[in-house]
Amino acid sequence: MSTWKSSEVFNRESGKNTTCQICGNEPDATWSRNEDIILCSSCAFDILPKLMADAVANRLLNHPIPKDLQISAFKAMWKEAEKNYWYAAACQLLQAVKREDAAHDSN
Ligand SMILES: [Zn+2]
Repeated sequence: MSTWKSSEVFNRESGKNTTCQICGNEPDATWSRNEDIILCSSCAFDILPKLMADAVANRLLNHPIPKDLQISAFKAMWKEAEKNYWYAAACQLLQAVKREDAAHDSN
């Protein structure tokens, strides 16, 4: 799951002056693994689906299969991406509820 923080909090904690890695605007989300992926929501919605399609296409080019199966492969990957999207959305909503509960309990 990505670790969302406001750009102000992320910059303070990371010691970086972070901007969206694609457009340079204020970021909305970070994904931290080996490297940080830092994007604004506009670039995430615009670029990530295109990157996903490119990745599937390049994988298919390296493993040639009949055209009808190529379309099926694209559809299968989109279904997988959609599951991952809703899983991440549910996790973010759960975290928001936990933050609200914690704030309520501390008052
Ligand atoms: Zn951007």
